[in-house]
Amino acid sequence: MSKAIVIGGGFAGLSAACFLAKAGCDVTLIEKNDALGGRCRAFEANGFTFDMGPSWYWMPDVFERFYQSFGYTTSDFYELKRLDPSYQVIYEDGDIMSIPATYQELLDLFESYESGSSKQLERFLKDGAYKYEIGMTEFVHKPSLSITEFLDWRVMSSFFKMDLFKSIAKEIRSKFRNPKLIQLLEFPVLFLGAKPENTPALYSLMNYADIKLGTWYPMGGMAEIPKAMTKIARELGVKIKLNEAVKELRVGGGAISSVITESKTYKADVVISAADYHHTETKLLSEPHRSYSDDYWDKREMAPSSLLFYVGIDRKVDGLQHHNLFFDTDFDRHAHQIYDTHEWPDQPLFYVCCPSKTDPSTAPPDQENLFFLIPLAAGIPDDHVKREALFNILVERLKKRMGIDITDHIVYKRSFCTDDFVSVYNSFKGNAYGLANTLMQTAFLKPKMQSKKVSNLIYAGQLTTPGPGVPPSLISGEVAAKYFLTKTNKEVI
Ligand SMILES: Cc1cc2nc3c(=O)[nH]c(=O)nc-3n(C[C@H](O)[C@H](O)[C@H](O)COP(=O)(O)OP(=O)(O)OC[C@H]3O[C@@H](n4cnc5c(N)ncnc54)[C@H](O)[C@@H]3O)c2cc1C
Repeated sequence: MSKAIVIGGGFAGLSAACFLAKAGCDVTLIEKNDALGGRCRAFEANGFTFDMGPSWYWMPDVFERFYQSFGYTTSDFYELKRLDPSYQVIYEDGDIMSIPATYQELLDLFESYESGSSKQLERFLKDGAYKYEIGMTEFVHKPSLSITEFLDWRVMSSFFKMDLFKSIAKEIRSKFRNPKLIQLLEFPVLFLGAKPENTPALYSLMNYADIKLGTWYPMGGMAEIPKAMTKIARELGVKIKLNEAVKELRVGGGAISSVITESKTYKADVVISAADYHHTETKLLSEPHRSYSDDYWDKREMAPSSLLFYVGIDRKVDGLQHHNLFFDTDFDRHAHQIYDTHEWPDQPLFYVCCPSKTDPSTAPPDQENLFFLIPLAAGIPDDHVKREALFNILVERLKKRMGIDITDHIVYKRSFCTDDFVSVYNSFKGNAYGLANTLMQTAFLKPKMQSKKVSNLIYAGQLTTPGPGVPPSLISGEVAAKYFLTKTNKEVI
């Protein structure tokens, strides 16, 4: 029986641990924090339960496929609700666009903003559906170690229809003229961590995921997902070590000989590191065993970091939906400050999640749970004065755009920013969502799953393939586990 160590208990680590254990490996998962879930943990304060990171449950098929791999279905763990409206967008002129879950209603909404746009949307989404299908069947489940994995006829022939070399900004502008519709369709790309003009049109598959597959919410909160995965892992016999940080990966003869934590030394046949890739490379391995140089990492384009606020309000807040996107300032200016000048934004776009609109368990009765997110440049020096100044701007904008004044109703507030991403997750440059999905950082152009120098070290998680986000991270753990099983001729289930 192979002995496997998995480092990091986020989606990638949990997923890798489950697939390895199912194949009969003796698995130990080591996590530095006191709970599993990584960026998707929750905390309780003053009767509120705050999800710490992800809040958009997209691609429900990916979660269902994971649960089915272990004989379960989603409803065995939590109730999944489709949100309707999916979300609302607040624009500068005071217009509030509520995005209906029903497709026909969405087509009507598009038409009301731009004549002929509903037909264009149908074409755009047909394309997105094709990319999603091919992407999910032919691309994301490959370890992407080499271009040769993609050299078969079906994959090659689909390559040209995947729009890798055209930007999504260009693709959207070739079909739509209304600036609000353009901004709406470019929003999912923000999750991918690069400007729309630098993101391949391949990622219109995200629009398909948003509009056609829908925006969902697991009752109880996003942390219900890692909770479900932890249950599966424990049932499969995975040994879980919490509050234990890996400090060193000792290498002998080109392979890891021991995994050293603060309190113990472990032996392993294989190590899957699902902690931040850069942290594993630069802090756990000595220099000769690293796959990439400092210069390589410096040249990576990171997805943004975030300034987050978890806020409890002592009354109900009318006007907000579960998801609210404030696109009421100059998007180009904010994007420029994130990606080009790397400075703190002065009038940022922001996002507010209010899960207590859907799920009363997240707040005390008649109170509201708010989560604010402002994308920030990765690597920006943290600054508590600037955090507070931006919070005041958010409060002002809520008042100005929606007449919502929370000033005297805040009963709980905590902020989380770049320094916290580094100290809590060992995140490279305090990034929130990993590597940006630019063309030059797609598939086999990402940091490789297989270490180039250490034969039994495999990487998983949002800095390697297939990329950032909850569904890709979860898939990454599966791909890493199956890559090891295939490599060692074990039965892949
Ligand atoms: C604020 C925010 C909002 C987001 N919103 C969304 C969203 O709405 N939808 C979506 O799909 N995605 C979203 N994402 C992205 C998504 O959360 C991530 O892509 C995903 O959770 C990454 O999973 P992971 O397993 O790769 O990494 P992580 O979750 O970071 O897991 C890595 C784990 O490794 C542990 N670790 C690190 N170093 C060590 C060590 N030395 N020893 C032991 N353990 C270690 C860390 O503590 C951590 O638990 C969001 C992310 C953030 C931060």
